[in-house]
Amino acid sequence: MSPESAAGARVLIVEDEEALRLALGDALRSEGFTVLEAEDGEAGYELAVREDPDLVLLDLMLPRRDGYSVLKGLRQDRLTVPVMILSARGEEWDRVQGFEFGADDYLVKPFSMRELLMRVQALLRRAKGGTPGIQERGRARFGAVEVDFAGYSLTREGVRHGLSRKELDLLRYFLDHEGQALERGVILDAVWGADEFPTTRTIDTHVLKLRKKIEAHPDQPEFLLTVHGVGYKFVATP
Ligand code: CA
Repeated sequence: MSPESAAGARVLIVEDEEALRLALGDALRSEGFTVLEAEDGEAGYELAVREDPDLVLLDLMLPRRDGYSVLKGLRQDRLTVPVMILSARGEEWDRVQGFEFGADDYLVKPFSMRELLMRVQALLRRAKGGTPGIQERGRARFGAVEVDFAGYSLTREGVRHGLSRKELDLLRYFLDHEGQALERGVILDAVWGADEFPTTRTIDTHVLKLRKKIEAHPDQPEFLLTVHGVGYKFVATP
């Protein structure tokens, strides 16, 4: 993680669970972020409006004002700050609802701090325009492919393909790391996390599935490339 990408960035944590709020604060500060904290939704909303942070980590179930209402309020105020929802509720309805209300990312508790920090960095990079032309809220485009994150699907040349949650997470990870050769082990840690026990073959299987959906010729991929001896690399413009 490069220090300059985090330096000076201000992250607002809106979380009523004290232990988690403190752990998040410590993890973010150790990466060089400045941390603002709120224990309830109303305080979080006021702090976001007043301090204009670079990123908001937002719990959903909060005292005084719930996370959805905070998010809606921020977007109605035309605040475009990237918002990552942190919630124990992992149901698809909640994810879709979150994206419809203008969330930029959604992380289901419990999560690893490492994954959280990687996603925070990716959101800040995206907000700074680090991956030009690829991502906008809830959608991504490359070549003839349009990805709809909220709809768990992508469209290539007019044909719609459904995506499993893991396919979607993997594709998002590739998009966030466009142009970088990624080792299988790193991808596994980031996308599958420590709580599951996939093998490197799991990645290969998912890459094959993704290639069938995004590539014109899955056997001769243009976007999702094999890097021999390393893993994979995604390029948005072949
Ligand atoms: Ca809560």
